[in-house]
Amino acid sequence: MESKTINSSELKNATNVWKECLSIIKKNVPFITYNTWFLPIKPVELNESTLKIQVPNSYFIEWIEEHFNTLINKTVFQMLGNNGKLVYIISQSDSYQPDLFSEDLDTTIKLPKEKSIKINEEEKEDSFDNYLSPRYRFDNFIKGEGNQLARAAAIAVSESPGETSFNPLFIYGGVGLGKTHLIQAIGNKIISNNYKKRVIYLSSDIFTVEFVEAIQSNTVNEFSNFYKNMDVLIIDDIQFLIGKEKTQDLFFHVFNTLHQAGKQIILSSDKPPKDLNGLNERLISRFQWGLTADIQPPDFETRLAILKNKSKSFGISLSNDIIEYIAYNIKNNIRELEGCLIKLLANASLGSADINFELVKKTVKEIATVRETNISIDFINQVVCNYFNVDENKVREKNRKKEVVLARQIAMYLSKKLTRSSLKTIGLHFGGRDHSTVIHAFNNIDKLISEDIAMKEIVETIRNKIELSV
Ligand code: ADP
Ligand code: MG
Repeated sequence: MESKTINSSELKNATNVWKECLSIIKKNVPFITYNTWFLPIKPVELNESTLKIQVPNSYFIEWIEEHFNTLINKTVFQMLGNNGKLVYIISQSDSYQPDLFSEDLDTTIKLPKEKSIKINEEEKEDSFDNYLSPRYRFDNFIKGEGNQLARAAAIAVSESPGETSFNPLFIYGGVGLGKTHLIQAIGNKIISNNYKKRVIYLSSDIFTVEFVEAIQSNTVNEFSNFYKNMDVLIIDDIQFLIGKEKTQDLFFHVFNTLHQAGKQIILSSDKPPKDLNGLNERLISRFQWGLTADIQPPDFETRLAILKNKSKSFGISLSNDIIEYIAYNIKNNIRELEGCLIKLLANASLGSADINFELVKKTVKEIATVRETNISIDFINQVVCNYFNVDENKVREKNRKKEVVLARQIAMYLSKKLTRSSLKTIGLHFGGRDHSTVIHAFNNIDKLISEDIAMKEIVETIRNKIELSV
């Protein structure tokens, strides 16, 4: 966390400027949106034309930049001139209590006060980003028939990591059914029980990207020791290791070291271990040492419960008829249920309509026709690079050649469109660029597509190629 002391005149200016910004924003978004996303922001510092604001978590930054980028930019330019810039910092204190819609936005992992005071310098140096999103918890994971076993096993593991026979815990199921939510909830719970536990969450494709970087920088030992030192290793979407022989070898050693030391390993995949064709047999057999639990699509009652819970946390109030209509029509995927609510909120946020039955029907129809797939960012990049005949590595490097920049931006754009990866994850895949670069690429391509028919066709052709090959 930033620990710079703020002098009162800076604070006053930052506060005033932000107040003015808020008054503009307030006029342009509905009440609920304003309360949910803007009110919890705190102004921190004003430095010439850069305003630093503090948000409760990285999810806020992503949401705001995705949905309100134009509004925010305009407002900042208006207040601070053409060089106006907004810098986000993330609050790490646990003092933040959202006023209205606490469920999903209450993000801080709560450490008892005295524990956070006890963290000394030495321990701080050892700290690392665990990539866990505090949004994923057991208390907001709705229990249903389809996830009963997986949930029970996850809770057991979170209470005694490494000490149950569920090691590894292997959770599999289709897209959008709650695998990521569940395995991150385990990590969050373990840390909240014992903040000293070294827990890390990452998806197997990030693991691969980091490994490749470690090879390039001659730091493979450090890389593998880092993971071998974890108490709890959570790897999401392990199926992305298929075809990555070297990464599989390294992962095999990490797995063995951790398992022998009684450390907990948690994995997720779209298929059970035995169906992971192309994965090394010795890994498959190890994955079956512990407990394998599936998650099935939610039944009608579970879908209703999820919708009620989520709409409450988004601050939308929907009639029972509407909730039942959505639950009846969106069946296979919890992410789509959630997506439907977000879309409704966004549509209502644009001030274009209240949430009435017509809007609900239209939104459900739109959602139901989008196919959810498990496309990887690397695959998208490969197809884009093939199309433009540019070297995949150039796209990851700092190459400013026109066609490389275009390929990179289109690959980022399609990654955002076709995967559920966060901006941060997408940036990592493209040579560790940060999330604002991804946003910039996305907006740029979005603009090009709307202005230039030829560009629109290019992007659509590439998109079809990608979608047809999965
Ligand atoms: P997967 O990793 O299986 O593709 P996710 O864990 O990303 O799916 O879940 C998709 C979305 O649905 C997430 O926002 C998650 O919070 C939500 N979700 C999934 N299952 C549940 C559940 N049982 N209760 C509440 N929310 C859920
Ligand atoms: Mg997932």
